[in-house]
Amino acid sequence: MLEDKNTQKTSIAELGEFGLINHLTKYFKIQNKSTIKGIGDDCAVVSNKEEEMVVSTDLLVEGVHFDLSYMPLKHLGYKAIMVNLSDVYAMNARAEQVTVSIAISNRFPLEALEELYAGIQLACDTYKVDLIGGDTTSSTTGMLISATAIGSAKKENIVYRNGAKPTDLIVVTGDLGGAYLGLQVLEREKEVFKVNPQNQPDLDSYSYIIERQLKPEARKDVIGLIDSLEVKPTSMIDISDGLSSEIMHICTQSKVGCNLYEEKFPLDPQVISTCEEFDIDSTMVALSGGEDYELLFTVSIKDFDKIKGNPNFTIIGHITEENEGMNLVTRANQQIKLKAQGWNSFHDEK
Ligand code: ADP
Ligand code: MG
Repeated sequence: MLEDKNTQKTSIAELGEFGLINHLTKYFKIQNKSTIKGIGDDCAVVSNKEEEMVVSTDLLVEGVHFDLSYMPLKHLGYKAIMVNLSDVYAMNARAEQVTVSIAISNRFPLEALEELYAGIQLACDTYKVDLIGGDTTSSTTGMLISATAIGSAKKENIVYRNGAKPTDLIVVTGDLGGAYLGLQVLEREKEVFKVNPQNQPDLDSYSYIIERQLKPEARKDVIGLIDSLEVKPTSMIDISDGLSSEIMHICTQSKVGCNLYEEKFPLDPQVISTCEEFDIDSTMVALSGGEDYELLFTVSIKDFDKIKGNPNFTIIGHITEENEGMNLVTRANQQIKLKAQGWNSFHDEK
């Protein structure tokens, strides 16, 4: 876990806008030669030469996408970068630049923003991306943070959502449902704390799932791995809204169906034990829990030998003809139609 260390409170009005931007960004270093000009002019300048450029943006809103009562600002900064890098990797591209825009109310002191930017910087350093710009403005109440990631890839390497073919294998990286369950634990502890602020939660037995929620990692490693295995997925997407809605995006755009096998879903032991404790079905959590930022992709059956047995990958199903529909095959061998119950910010209570 990342630590928030600052306890001082300096008003941001003291620095002024330019002083603030300079203060927050002065320790960022440019690491990629494709970054010609970073922060400081009207535009950043990026050079892409022969490759295609990929661009992705996400907007995170306080109270909708994050709750600062349990999300430390350093984690929020880190996560804001991760959600964007994850989209770039889901195109099988390299991420090289990011911009970050923030809207903040005067309830945030300078030290809070320093924590936010410490998280952004840690993400940039770890993933070798350059912060090349952004915008800073005020908001009347909460905080908004928007990041844009820019990446590049050879034209022939880019993987879209629409290339899945019948008989292709469906592969997922890592494990599923942890981030959603981590959120459930944090929400529960917040309620306990409201009733009794003296109550210090013991979260040791939930450390993995809480980390999945508060400090997700985008799967840059997987992009290197499939390259070294000489596997080019036929389609790919990152899991931000939940497996079910993501595979439905792939199937709809590829005009195919799928069978996902419940018994194959990769679940961490902590996910299983926490599901038991909360009395929720782990398959539902795997299908609908969002924010795992794993990659979901399809590969030709010819690549089976390259994928099987690799601890990073789990084959969870296969692509079928469109008219067979999108299905979950249960342990009892029943076929159930998939629903897009993925987490999204427009949902009512689940
Ligand atoms: P402009 O008036 O052209 O919008 P700004 O004064 O907002 O320029 O920004 C000056 C420089 O600082 C630009 O390079 C801009 O991209 C960068 N910048 C502004 N806000 C941020 C931020 N929150 N994070 C990173 N860079 C920023
Ligand atoms: Mg500006």
